[in-house]
Amino acid sequence: MNSLQTTTQAERILDAVPDELFIGGWTPSQDHRTLTVYNPATDLPIKTIADGSPDDGLKALGAAAQAAQHWARTSPLDRSNLLRKVYEAVIDKSEEMATLITLEMGKTLSEARTEVVYGADYIRWYSEEAVRFEGRNRLSPDGLSRIVTSKEPVGPSLLITPWNFPLAMATRKIAPALAAGCTVILKPAELTPLTSLFLARLLGEAGVPEGVVNVVTTSNAPGLSEAMMKDNRLRKVSFTGSTVVGKRLVAQASDQMLRMSMELGGNAPLIVFEDADLDNAVKGAVTAKLRNGGQSCVASNRILVHESVADAFVDKFARQMAGVTLGNGLDPATALGPLIDGRAVDKCALFVEDAIGKGARAVVGGKRVPGAGHFYPATVLDHVPLEARIMHEEVFGPVAPVYRFATDEEAVSVANDTPFGLASFIFSRDLNRVQGIVDQLQSGMVGVNRGTVSNVAAPFGGIKHSGLGREGGSEGIEEYLNVKYVAYDRA
Ligand code: NAD
Repeated sequence: MNSLQTTTQAERILDAVPDELFIGGWTPSQDHRTLTVYNPATDLPIKTIADGSPDDGLKALGAAAQAAQHWARTSPLDRSNLLRKVYEAVIDKSEEMATLITLEMGKTLSEARTEVVYGADYIRWYSEEAVRFEGRNRLSPDGLSRIVTSKEPVGPSLLITPWNFPLAMATRKIAPALAAGCTVILKPAELTPLTSLFLARLLGEAGVPEGVVNVVTTSNAPGLSEAMMKDNRLRKVSFTGSTVVGKRLVAQASDQMLRMSMELGGNAPLIVFEDADLDNAVKGAVTAKLRNGGQSCVASNRILVHESVADAFVDKFARQMAGVTLGNGLDPATALGPLIDGRAVDKCALFVEDAIGKGARAVVGGKRVPGAGHFYPATVLDHVPLEARIMHEEVFGPVAPVYRFATDEEAVSVANDTPFGLASFIFSRDLNRVQGIVDQLQSGMVGVNRGTVSNVAAPFGGIKHSGLGREGGSEGIEEYLNVKYVAYDRA
């Protein structure tokens, strides 16, 4: 594909993105404020859209509240069939959707295509789950009553998403919510709102009724969410983003006692034991580090390697990381796209300088890339001491620090020495040892001999400061359901 074709195709796709704030039966405010979206590969503006106010958020909530009762009463099969139509519409527009993701977020087109399949799969999965959630019916232990439970939608839900997976983070929330019978207001990240607007258009075209899905784009996320969370028509907040914002939202939610789902930050350890298949461990480490350019909450933030195999591991790992081509995600030769913005590049540079200042050695990369766009190269740091900031804070970029450990006890202790608990990765051939380590790791998910954990059929989520609740799997729909218990007298 030459660049002229790429540009024309991109313009056509951008034209198909609605620039209003919403789908739904409400009229946005008339103050005509706008929000400009930039391409992180070029730092050039790509589209200007409406910038919603807190008042727009309340109007969207009004539409969601008005539609709630009717939507809750639709049959599970109707909701299932509609979601299936949406799934097919997204798959039908895969190429446009993938290009849009690359344009606004920066990841490579091939990764964007993978995200579209993954994101659409949540819609397919919950189209199937919509007809499956169950209550129970049992005799009470004393035999005097019958315990009957049923599930009801929690009601209008505010869904707040981050910029790193513009489609998948939205569908992972919208699909279970709609399947459960909830209406929603989606507030996408201000850096990547275009994919959500395009998705909203597909939802509307597939026949999702007015008010059931509302999208509000804004540069004032705190003001908008605060206004909505004070309004008792809202019943739930599902948030994916940083722990600092998540904690603020949990505090705000107490006022209206809102149901909460929190998918927050991580600090994943990737542990390579001395009996690991080293080639597979290297493959897993490259995937766990470079997927989404390292901008993933489950990215391996710390690589812990047994000292007896560390030299061999670092040698192989460094060779793979050194061969990664950095560039614009639309270029088919690119394996690593730009970071989302200048702050993300500054954070990588700061953490690398900090680690080197404390005794680490840069084996690959470690230097900013001059020029337009927000690029930072794949980087391997060896002999990183525990005092380095990168061992404690999420770098959210393609920087891999290697720490050498001596015993299993030390590996577990270092792995758990973090307030976060989202994902961990283990590489070992000994499954008894693996199970023992899995039992001790404080994280919601563990990848064994592989560098990815995400799967639509699995419960994604963390413990400790990484969050509350689960997304995906049969667990994901429960987050949008209340249990109602009825006691029948056993006359
Ligand atoms: P962020 O917390 O800055 O923003 C996330 C969303 O919250 C955005 O839509 C933003 O506009 C909104 N927001 C910001 N401040 C807010 C406020 N005061 N009130 C209400 N909304 C507010 O996070 P980010 O930089 O977009 O995303 C990166 C973070 O997300 C990382 O820490 C990453 O680990 C985490 N993340 C977690 C998961 C997971 O499933 N656990 C998945 C992806 C990303």
